[in-house]
Amino acid sequence: MSRRAAFIDRDGVLNEERAFVHRIEDFVFLPGAIEALRALERAGYRRVVVTNQSGIARGLYTEADYQRLTDQVRERLRGEGVTLDAIEYCPHLADAPLAQYRRACECRKPAPGMLLKAIRALDLDPAGSFLVGDRLTDVQAGRAAGIGRCFLVRTGYALSGEAVGAADGVYADLLACVRDVLGRDEADRTARSSP
Ligand SMILES: [Mg+2]
Ligand SMILES: [Zn+2]
Repeated sequence: MSRRAAFIDRDGVLNEERAFVHRIEDFVFLPGAIEALRALERAGYRRVVVTNQSGIARGLYTEADYQRLTDQVRERLRGEGVTLDAIEYCPHLADAPLAQYRRACECRKPAPGMLLKAIRALDLDPAGSFLVGDRLTDVQAGRAAGIGRCFLVRTGYALSGEAVGAADGVYADLLACVRDVLGRDEADRTARSSP
């Protein structure tokens, strides 16, 4: 019960969607994203980022480049007093140009591997958790992992009708989504505690 988590896609949800972000100059936090992470932390939700990074399999940047950017992002967040409990990434692609990453893996969303790994490692309660993404594949990964609620935001990819139909809710951005979730939690608590 206490180990609820917010599973958050990276590009298009935390930071601006740009093609294959791998340098800190191209990593631009979306308005309200850091505030949303802080609110989640205060409310006792673990923060888990789950990101497909096929740019590695495509040879556009290396795993070391990815790790460097991730360290820089963590550093930036630390400066804001915000932490992430896990950042899971998938470097694979089924038809990748680079042979060492050419794999029909269990981690590239819509597969649930990254979420399941974090659920195990952090002993999370999937049903009490929620996911925020900007693509149908995010929602599909969340469903496959048994995540209680899967939401989309309008800050990333243009949402298909199919994606909107599959989601439990669509929000302007991460902060709007988080505020709504925390507001509902508060309403539930109030309802339970009233005689
Ligand atoms: Mg995305
Ligand atoms: Zn993978």
